[in-house]
Amino acid sequence: MTDTPDFVREIRINPIDPTESVLVSTARGMRPRKAEERAPRDERERVETCPFCRGNEDKTPPTIKAYPDARDWDIRIVENLFPVLGDDRPQGSLAFGLQQVIDGYGRHEVVIDHPSHGISLHQMSREHLANLFQTYQERMAEMYAADPRLKYVLVFKNFGPAAGASIPHTHSQIIATPVVPENVQNEVFHSRNYHRKFNQCVFCSLIDEALTYEATIYDRHSGAVRRRVNVGQYVVERGERFIAIKPFASRYEWEVHVLPLQHAADFLRATREDLADFARVLRRTMARLDQVIGGAQYNFFLHSLPHGEEHKDCGPSYHWHLEICPRTSIPTGFELGSGLFVSTISPERAAEQLRAVALED
Ligand SMILES: [Zn+2]
Ligand SMILES: [Zn+2]
Ligand SMILES: [Zn+2]
Repeated sequence: MTDTPDFVREIRINPIDPTESVLVSTARGMRPRKAEERAPRDERERVETCPFCRGNEDKTPPTIKAYPDARDWDIRIVENLFPVLGDDRPQGSLAFGLQQVIDGYGRHEVVIDHPSHGISLHQMSREHLANLFQTYQERMAEMYAADPRLKYVLVFKNFGPAAGASIPHTHSQIIATPVVPENVQNEVFHSRNYHRKFNQCVFCSLIDEALTYEATIYDRHSGAVRRRVNVGQYVVERGERFIAIKPFASRYEWEVHVLPLQHAADFLRATREDLADFARVLRRTMARLDQVIGGAQYNFFLHSLPHGEEHKDCGPSYHWHLEICPRTSIPTGFELGSGLFVSTISPERAAEQLRAVALED
C-alpha cells in the first residue's frame, strides 16, 4: 500500500550532490504559473523558409556529419551559425588579479534531429531515436579524439521557446568545452566521495532503492503509522536495460532522469542494443510527459563521464544519464536569489501522474 501525502513542505537534499537542495512545498499559489493548456506549437511537416528543412541544405553551414548520408539524411550535423565557443585564435585577455579566464575555445554544433519540421521526440520512431543517440555518440568520440584540450562534450536539447529554442525545427546541440561544466563536475566529485565511503555507485544505489525499498514511518509519540513509503513510486518507466526515475529532490517539477540499470559510466560505450532499449524508454517517457503537461517544452542534458586523465579513476563511481527538464514554471526571485529551487508538486505525486498515462506502444 502506498499513500502519497497531499501536503508536503520539506527541504530535500539531492542525494547525488548534497550541496544542492530543493524546497518541496505543495501549498498553492507560491509562484506565477503558466497556463496549463497545451502550448501552441508549429507542427508543420515542412516549412519553405526553414534552414533546417530538407531541400534547404544550402541555407546552413556545410554538413559535418549525416545519417545515413548527406544527400538523403535523417539526421544532419552542421556548425552553429552563432557559436558560443569558437576556434583558438589568440585573443587579448582583460583579466587581472583574482579574475581567471580560460579561452572560450571549443566547438559548437547543431544536430538537426529529424527531417520533419515540427515533430516531437515521442513522435519519432524508436529506431530513429536510437540512430540519433548513436550519431551523438559518434560525434562526441570524434571530438574527444580530435583535440585533447577538450575536457567535455555536452549534448543537450532545447525544445520550445520556454526552453530557449530559437529555431522551431527540432534540433539539439553539441558543445565541446575546455572545462568540465560545473554541474557535471559536481556530480563526478560527489559520486566519487560516496564511492570512497560506501564502495558503491550512488546512482546504482538510488536505482536499487527505487526498485526494492519499502518503509513505514511511525509517529515517535503515538506509534501510529504516519506514512508508508514505497520508493518504487519514483519509477516512471522501466525497460530491459534502462529506467526512468523521478528524482526525489528534483529541481524541476516534472524532471525525469533516464539511466542504464547496469552500472555504466561512459555513454560512449553504450552498445546498439543498449541504445535500442534506451530509445524505447525515452520515447515512452516523453509521451507520458507530453500527455500530463500538455506539449512539453523542455531541455535535456546528457551527462557522461568526462574524458581526460583526471577522471580516469571515476569509472566505478560515475553513472551516465539523461536529465529531462520540462519548463513549466518561471523561476521566482526567491529561486534566483537563493539558488533553492521550489517544487509545488511533490515528486511522488508527479511520478504517479506520469505512470498513470496509458500508452499504446
Ligand atoms: Zn524546418
Ligand atoms: Zn552506477
Ligand atoms: Zn546529471
